[in-house]
Amino acid sequence: VDQIAGIDSGRLRAFARAEAARFAAQRPQTRAALEAGADAFLDRVPMHWMRDWPMPFPLLVKTARGARLEDLDGFGIDDFCLGDTGSMFGHSPPPVARAIRKQARRGLTYMLPTAAALEAGRLLSDVFGAFRWQVATTATDANRFAIRVARAVTGRAKILVFNGCYHGTVDDVMVALQDGRTVARPGLVGQVADLTAGAVAVEFNDLAAVEAALAGGEVAAILTEPVMTNSCMVLPEPDFLQGLRAAADRHGALLIVDETHTISSGLGGYARGQGLRADILVVGKCVAGGLPCAVWGLSDTVAARFHVYDAARAPGHSGMGTTLSANPLQFAALRATLAEVMTQANYARMERRAARLAEGLTRVIAAHGLPWHVVRVGARVEFICAPGPLRNGTEAAAAHQPELEAALHVGLVNRGCLIAPFHNMMLASPVTTKAQVDRLIAAFDEILTELTR
Ligand code: PMP
Repeated sequence: VDQIAGIDSGRLRAFARAEAARFAAQRPQTRAALEAGADAFLDRVPMHWMRDWPMPFPLLVKTARGARLEDLDGFGIDDFCLGDTGSMFGHSPPPVARAIRKQARRGLTYMLPTAAALEAGRLLSDVFGAFRWQVATTATDANRFAIRVARAVTGRAKILVFNGCYHGTVDDVMVALQDGRTVARPGLVGQVADLTAGAVAVEFNDLAAVEAALAGGEVAAILTEPVMTNSCMVLPEPDFLQGLRAAADRHGALLIVDETHTISSGLGGYARGQGLRADILVVGKCVAGGLPCAVWGLSDTVAARFHVYDAARAPGHSGMGTTLSANPLQFAALRATLAEVMTQANYARMERRAARLAEGLTRVIAAHGLPWHVVRVGARVEFICAPGPLRNGTEAAAAHQPELEAALHVGLVNRGCLIAPFHNMMLASPVTTKAQVDRLIAAFDEILTELTR
């Protein structure tokens, strides 16, 4: 029979049709609201990728609290997507909401720092280590600026990234590996530059390829997540990250560690937990509790090199920074998150919930005899509809089952559970309850029972 990852494809298609119909039929108010209002937007959504959710139309959220959403039709939904990490500590954490309320009366943006900014700086160094910090509004921007500094201080053009990586919509590194060659990723809208002039892609967990790419002396920096969280979830093999560190040092390249997702690993992120030294560290998404904010920090050595470069460069715009970045609302939310939300106690709670979830999903997969696996990195859990472990972006791409995954996602929404779109990522926040975790495991079991009947 025709199968997709161990599931009969005819049964899968019937399931997908039934679940899509159920989603739509249960949401008359959402449908009516979209009919009345969506046409104002390009493609009927305020952000183009909102079309890519697998439901027949997007949910309209009425409110979110803790780790739970309520939609316009009154359905309560356990949220394991959590804004794809932006709300990893739960929706509107009370200390952050209080800080925002207080600052809201005192001005929202003025191009000057506040006392809270200074406190946030100290807290950033406490949590992530001694870096010289800058504040941006999204991790995309933080990575762009980190890349500029790396090129500036090394005088080299290329950024080495891993095939299948994602660091935001950073044009400079939108490359992939195809038949052993670096190519521009297909699908980029309006891209005219030759991206291969400024970036090189190799496979994750392939130190020999990294070494070969660095040997030419053209690479300014390696830009990597410590775990490939955007390509299913690919873990580094035991000596890989320290191998990157050593190779970068040997060849005079910097190591930029993007912890935007691996901030789920534990307090201070994955690199700090593993004793991996970054030259530039990037953190975004949840760093200010869900308010748009990202930070990037230079090691003392890189900061010193940058000062030398900066003093000698031609006058003119640096190409870094945006008007609304480093605003007082961000400082207030950043300070509150670092001081009161991003705590060891909260990470311990997230870890427990995520462990329960990973164990439950693993048990269900085994009970149904499916050739799938589950990976967990701290609060982040991913089920992968293929055997594991995956070693790199090519294996991750091959493991991806878009049709099956879309059906599972819609089935889960209909059973009150939201997981991240485009892959099978689930986050446990400090306010995610045991009951919510158990409901997700039960929903997953119910769906697999139906699909394997
Ligand atoms: N870095 C990583 C590792 C990411 O996963 C993402 C977004 N998924 C980004 C950077 C970019 O973040 P943003 O879209 O908030 O700019």
